[in-house]
Amino acid sequence: MSLAVEFQHVTKQYGSFEALKGISFEVEEGAFFGLLGPNGAGKSTLINAMSGLLVPSGGMIKVHGYDVIQDYRQTRRLLGLVPQELIADPFFTIRQLLELQSGYFGIKGKEQKQWIDELLERLALADKANAITNQLSGGMKRRVLIAMALVHKPRVLVLDEPTAGVDVDLRHTLWEFTKELHQKGHTIILTTHYLEEAEALCEKVAIMQRGEVKALDTTSQLLATHPFRYVRVAVENRNTPLSMELKKRLVEDDNAGYLFRLEKEQSMSDMLGMLHHSGIAVKDVRTRDATLEEVFMALTGAAQA
Ligand code: ADP
Ligand code: MG
Repeated sequence: MSLAVEFQHVTKQYGSFEALKGISFEVEEGAFFGLLGPNGAGKSTLINAMSGLLVPSGGMIKVHGYDVIQDYRQTRRLLGLVPQELIADPFFTIRQLLELQSGYFGIKGKEQKQWIDELLERLALADKANAITNQLSGGMKRRVLIAMALVHKPRVLVLDEPTAGVDVDLRHTLWEFTKELHQKGHTIILTTHYLEEAEALCEKVAIMQRGEVKALDTTSQLLATHPFRYVRVAVENRNTPLSMELKKRLVEDDNAGYLFRLEKEQSMSDMLGMLHHSGIAVKDVRTRDATLEEVFMALTGAAQA
């Protein structure tokens, strides 16, 4: 399997603050890779360093074997970045921006027009093609950024919080489109605050915190190695106090009942025994494995916004 991206001991200092503390990992070609972490973890810093937007203080980043600093032109062509920050251009229309961007990569003529038309169509921008970008809504601007990142058909597509502040409809459109690109063989690197999205889409994830990688594994392995499963209990007598051992396991408490966590090796009859012991009349019990959100919180101690 060839590598799409290699990070080797990447550091970034802002004065005495270390935004990246020696990041090393690899992303395989064709992967759908999630880069997760609480705000300030260093995700955008790492992505921007990979995209040549900032120079790391130390270490090396390679894209398909090319060094992002020494072989900037090659890596620029291999990568498409959808940045976290929205842009708005006061002069150019959407179509003009896309033409400029693809012209920069030497794409011209019929090939250029066909692909730009297809992007406009797929991202539901066709009827806005002649609008000036600073007149657009946030969701539309996000779509323009995605189209701009794809205009040269990069082998590696990097999306930094592409669904932040985007409505449900557009999120679905985006994921369908991104999945299709992945199926065609593009490598996708995604950062997102929506851990449900990451769980559904990403085969592998890295979880960053304070400039370090806390965990890196396949999504299924991360979920499997989490020590707990979860038990949702609907009860008849909501006001009966819980015993200490139940309180210790309580994760959530709402009108419908309780959510407890249970060590994986512990049996359901232990759980039912504890409930019975507290005099709790059980209406219904459902168990499930951990979600990526729960794994994330256990690893970082932080709740995702
Ligand atoms: P994330 O994308 O994971 O939310 P960032 O990569 O944007 O995190 O930021 C990582 C850390 O680096 C944060 O603490 C942020 O405040 C800091 N940082 C980012 N850019 C700069 C800068 N230009 N100057 C100083 N600190 C910065
Ligand atoms: Mg960020």
